[in-house]
Amino acid sequence: MKKADKLSRRRLLQASGAMLAGNAMGATSAAAAAIEQKATETQTALALQKLLRKAAVPLAKGARVVVVGGGWSGLTMAKYLRRFNPAFDVILIDQQSAFVSFPVSNAWLADQVSLDFLSHSFFDAANNNGYHFMQATVLGFDRESRQVYTDLGYVDYDYLVLAPGIEYDYSRIGVEDTEAQTRLFHRYPGGFVTSSELLTIKNKINQFPGGIFLLNVPDGDYRCTAAPYERACMIAAIFKRRRVRAKILLLDMNSEIRIKKTGFTRAYEQLYADYIEYLPSSLISSVDTTATGSKPSSMNTPSTTPSYTRPCAPRA
Ligand SMILES: Cc1cc2nc3c(=O)[nH]c(=O)nc-3n(C[C@H](O)[C@H](O)[C@H](O)COP(=O)(O)OP(=O)(O)OC[C@H]3O[C@@H](n4cnc5c(N)ncnc54)[C@H](O)[C@@H]3O)c2cc1C
Repeated sequence: MKKADKLSRRRLLQASGAMLAGNAMGATSAAAAAIEQKATETQTALALQKLLRKAAVPLAKGARVVVVGGGWSGLTMAKYLRRFNPAFDVILIDQQSAFVSFPVSNAWLADQVSLDFLSHSFFDAANNNGYHFMQATVLGFDRESRQVYTDLGYVDYDYLVLAPGIEYDYSRIGVEDTEAQTRLFHRYPGGFVTSSELLTIKNKINQFPGGIFLLNVPDGDYRCTAAPYERACMIAAIFKRRRVRAKILLLDMNSEIRIKKTGFTRAYEQLYADYIEYLPSSLISSVDTTATGSKPSSMNTPSTTPSYTRPCAPRA
C-alpha cells in the first residue's frame, strides 16, 4: 500500500472511530453486531475508495495553491493570490455551496436586510476572479505528499492555505459530554460558526411566544466583540415591534460592556429598558441540555462560548 493510502485509511478510521464505538455499544445480540459491523465495513470501504481517488478538478496550469475555507479570509486569499500572482493556479474549497456573511447577520435576524445582501455565490466569486471553486469537505492533508483529502477525493497542491474558521469551546460553560455539546449546538446555536445556525436562531426569534430569552456574552477572545451586545438590541427591536411579552437576559461574563459602552448602555437603559436586562459578571458553570424551561444551573465559573438563545417558561 502506498504511503498516502495508509495515511488516508488511518485518518478515515480515526474519524469514524467514535461512531463505530457508539454503534457497537448499542447492539443487543452478536448477530446484530456482526451485521452492523459488515455494513460499517462496507461503508468504510466505499468512503475510503472515494477518499483515495483523485478529485475531479482542472489540471494545474501553474503552481497550485489550495485554499481551504471560503469565509472572509479564504475568499480574500483566493482573490488576491490570483490578482498579485497571476501565475498561481488557485482552488478554493468550501463545504458550503454559498458564502453567508456573519457581519450584518444581526440586521438580517431583525429583517433589516435581505438574505441576498448576506449571501453570495462561490461560483460567481471564482468565475469573476479567475480561480476554481470546489464544493467539498476537507478531511485532512498530508504535507509530505502535498495532498488535501476531501470527501470527493484528493487534490495535489504546491501551497496550502488553511482558513477553516473556528469551533465552539463548550467545556468553558461546563458542557464536556459530546452528545450534550451536539444538542447545544443544534438547539441553541451561537450563530458564530456556520451560517445555518443563523436560520435556527431566526426561527427561534420568530416563534418565540414570550418569556425569558437568554443570551450570553463570553469573555476572552471571540468573534466580533460587539456581536452579542448588538444581537440583544436587534432581538429586542423585534419583540418591541411585535409586542411580544419577553425579557432578554443578557448574561455577560465580563464585568462591564466591552465595546461601545455608552451606546449600548443607552440602548439597554432607555430604548429597550422593558425588554433587556443586562447582567454583568454572569458566569455559567453548567447547562442542562435535556430540560426545557429551566435556567442555567448556576453562574459562577468562566465560559467563553459565544452567545446562545434559550427560551424559558413564559412569565405569568
Ligand atoms: C454576528 C457577527 C457579526 C460580525 N460582525 C463583524 C463585523 O462587523 N466586522 C468584522 O470584521 N467581523 C465581524 N464578525 C467576525 C467575522 O465574521 C469573522 O472574523 C470572519 O467570519 C472570520 O472569517 P474566516 O474566513 O476566518 O472564517 P469563517 O467565516 O468561519 O469561514 C470558514 C469557512 O471554512 C469552511 N470550512 C470549515 N471547515 C471546512 C472543511 N473541513 N472543509 C471545507 N470547508 C470548511 C466553512 O464552511 C466556512 O465557509 C462578526 C461575526 C459575527 C458572528
